[in-house]
Amino acid sequence: MDDEKRAQLKHKFEQARQKERIDANIARATEERGIVVFITGNGKGKTTSAFGMMMRSLGYGHKVGLVQFVKGKQQSGEELFIRENHPEIPFYQMGTGFTWDTQDRAGDIAAAEKTWAFAETLLKDETLRLVVLDELTYMIGFKYLDEQKIIDAIKNRPVEQSVVITGRGGGTALRELADTVSEIESVKHAYESGVKARAGVDY
Ligand code: ATP
Ligand code: MG
Repeated sequence: MDDEKRAQLKHKFEQARQKERIDANIARATEERGIVVFITGNGKGKTTSAFGMMMRSLGYGHKVGLVQFVKGKQQSGEELFIRENHPEIPFYQMGTGFTWDTQDRAGDIAAAEKTWAFAETLLKDETLRLVVLDELTYMIGFKYLDEQKIIDAIKNRPVEQSVVITGRGGGTALRELADTVSEIESVKHAYESGVKARAGVDY
């Protein structure tokens, strides 16, 4: 047998073994329930991943909800798209209520609490199949919101509801609670070589 044939046979054998493993895993995954997905790490792609899942969900006609724990009144393409094309989506941005610049901790906590109260209504709504809590981790990190309250509300959500959480950090309780955790590593970012943030790519 020449080298080429041997390599082909080896490849075929390895592919068959891999297919067996994948099929076994698929057969084992039989539970039907909503999941918690946590997208974290320093690399770019956390919020955009959450919006990718939202688009998937909408594609199936599912109802979705969105809360952004973001500072300031920063515009984003996803916000423009939702407000223009999906005004029916329950959507709350902490935005203007938040005052990092003035260092008004009491004011920030009040804004975070108000935003969380909206998030809680989504986490109780059985009609929602997907709830995105964008940049939630910072509220836990700054101790603006009670971690246990967040964990309990997510745990007690409707069975069919999935939740996507984004942000750096987040702590061990959130990692343990989540069914899927992805940590995006930054290899490099255009910003570091002096390229300005771009509409439609960065915001
Ligand atoms: P995106 O919204 O693009 O998915 P993200 O949610 O992962 O990014 P955030 O920490 O929320 O990241 O920051 C959002 C903004 O910061 C975006 O404009 C993004 O391009 C930029 N950004 C993300 N990661 C980095 C990085 N490692 N270095 C510099 N800028 C970054
Ligand atoms: Mg983000």
